[in-house]
Amino acid sequence: MGPILIVGAGPTGLAAALFLSVAGVACRIVDRADEPAQLSKALAVNPRTLELLEPTGVSARIMAEGRPIHHFQLRRGGAVVLTMDLDELGAAYPMTALPQARTEALLAEALAAYGVHAERGVSLSDLSQTVDKVVAVLAHPGGRVETAETPLLFAADGAHSRVRHVLDIGFPGSAFPEPWRLVDVRFEAPVEGAEGYVELHPHGLVFALAFDPAHWRIISTVGDPLNHLPAGAVVKDVPWASDFHISHRIADTLAVGRVALGGDAAHLHSPVGARGMNLGIEDAYVFAHIAKEVLDGAPERLQDYGRLRHVVDKGVVQRIEAISRMARGEGLWSVVREVAPHLAGSLPPLRRMMEQTVCGLDHAVQLS
Ligand SMILES: Cc1cc2nc3c(=O)[nH]c(=O)nc-3n(C[C@H](O)[C@H](O)[C@H](O)COP(=O)(O)OP(=O)(O)OC[C@H]3O[C@@H](n4cnc5c(N)ncnc54)[C@H](O)[C@@H]3O)c2cc1C
Repeated sequence: MGPILIVGAGPTGLAAALFLSVAGVACRIVDRADEPAQLSKALAVNPRTLELLEPTGVSARIMAEGRPIHHFQLRRGGAVVLTMDLDELGAAYPMTALPQARTEALLAEALAAYGVHAERGVSLSDLSQTVDKVVAVLAHPGGRVETAETPLLFAADGAHSRVRHVLDIGFPGSAFPEPWRLVDVRFEAPVEGAEGYVELHPHGLVFALAFDPAHWRIISTVGDPLNHLPAGAVVKDVPWASDFHISHRIADTLAVGRVALGGDAAHLHSPVGARGMNLGIEDAYVFAHIAKEVLDGAPERLQDYGRLRHVVDKGVVQRIEAISRMARGEGLWSVVREVAPHLAGSLPPLRRMMEQTVCGLDHAVQLS
C-alpha cells in the first residue's frame, strides 16, 4: 500500500506532511492548485504553533523572518482602553507577524529536506474506504486519473473540502451578513507606536496589525479600511485588498474510518484572534502523532483524533465567535463590549484569559 495521503498543501497539509516526515512516516501530499498561494491571509504565527514546530526547525526561521508582537490594544474613540501584554504568559516564543505565504514557503522548504514535495495540479475527486485502506481518485493535469491506495488520508483541503462533501459530513454554523473588508497596505514611512489594535466603533470594528512598521493589515466592518488608517499613515501602495464573509462552523465529525479532517476543512471562524491557520497546524501535529501509532498497529487511535480535536476545535470556534460578536457590537453584545475592556484592565485573570486565546494557549494539546 502507498504512503499516507494528504489532500491540500495549505499550511495544515504542509505541516502534517512535515510532522510525519520528522517522525519517519512516509507521506504524499497533493494540491489541485498549480502554484502555492501567494496571499498573505493569516498574518501571525502564535506561540503555541512555534512550540509545536520547534523540532522541525521552522520556528527558528519564522522568528528570523517575522516580527514579534509584544502588545495588542483595544481602543475606543482613538483612546486605548486595554493593553494586552502578550509576553505576560511567559510562553517560550512571542506572537510573530508573518504573511501566510511566507509561513507556507518555510514549511515547504523544510519538507523538501525530507524529499517530499507537494504534487501540484492534482485534485482529489472521490474516495472510498474499507476497514484497512482508503482508495482515493486523483485527477492529474492532462486528464490522467489515478486510483491511489493509502492506509490513512488527511483532508486538509480547505473550507469547501471535497473530502468532507464525499463523506457527507455536516458543517453546521452561521455567517455574519456583512462583508469584512481587508487591505494590506504599505505606508510611505514607518508608523511607530502600537504593533496592533482593535478600534471599537459604535457599529463595528477596525482591526489593525503591523507586519512591519511600514506594512500593515487593516480589516474593517465599518466601510473602507483605507478610511481607518493609523494616525499619521500615508499610503504608498495596497498590495492586497479583499472583501470576505465570516462564518463560524465546525464539522460534525473530524474522523471517519481511516480519513481525518483538519484545518479549514474541519472548522471556520473569524480572523479575530488570528487562530485559523494556527489551529490547523495544531490539528496536523496531533494527526501526525496519532497516525504514526495507527501505522504501528493501533487502528482505533484514529477515532481518538476525531474525539480529541472536535472538542478543542469546537471550543475555539465558540470562543472566537463570542469575541467577534462582542467586537462587532451586535445586540446585547454591545453591552458586554462596553464593560469588558475595563473589567479586563482591573481583573488580571480575565485579561490573561484573553491573552491565552490570542496566543493559542487556551487549551492543552492532548495526544491521548
Ligand atoms: C481573506 C482572509 C483573511 C484571513 N486572515 C487570517 C488571519 O488573520 N489569521 C488566521 O489565522 N487566519 C486567517 N485566515 C484563515 C487562514 O488563511 C486559513 O485558516 C488557513 O489558510 C487554513 O489553512 P488550510 O491549510 O486548512 O486550508 P487552505 O489554506 O484553504 O488550503 C487548502 C488547500 O487544499 C487545496 N485543495 C482544495 N480542494 C482540493 C482537492 N479536491 N484536491 C486537492 N487539493 C485541494 C487548495 O488548493 C488549497 O491549497 C484568513 C483567510 C482569508 C480568506
